[in-house]
Amino acid sequence: METPNLNSLYQQLILEHYRAPKNKGELDGSTVEVHMANPVCGDEIRLQLRIEDEAITDVKFVGQGCSISQAAVSMMTQKLNGKSLDEATSLARRFTEMMHGDASAAKDRDLGDLRALAGVSKFPVRVKCALLGFDALQEALKQTTGGETH
Ligand code: ZN
Repeated sequence: METPNLNSLYQQLILEHYRAPKNKGELDGSTVEVHMANPVCGDEIRLQLRIEDEAITDVKFVGQGCSISQAAVSMMTQKLNGKSLDEATSLARRFTEMMHGDASAAKDRDLGDLRALAGVSKFPVRVKCALLGFDALQEALKQTTGGETH
């Protein structure tokens, strides 16, 4: 699928992450691993996290698919290192709000590079691409906490 026409600065940031993803590779000593796919677009990722004492101490992913899905995971992993599980949960919630068109979330500095994806919310078929990484993260957190909700 083609990349939607976004603000060019944001588009450039997305392509940078796509071409040179952060934290891509295999993680030694991961405590949880989640595979997630978006069959509509053909996106696929495997997210690996090391979680110690209720905090994410390392994160890596492997994957393939469109620029939005892969850039979104790369941007997400940049924000996760050192985050507590609660912080990671609220980051996921904030990003999901942004992808559903919440303008205040789109200005939230906590989201960092992820804000470049705000314009994708105007393209409903691509929202799934952008959410793939966070869907995997939320599943990983659920598995870690044994499905308990906080
Ligand atoms: Zn996609």
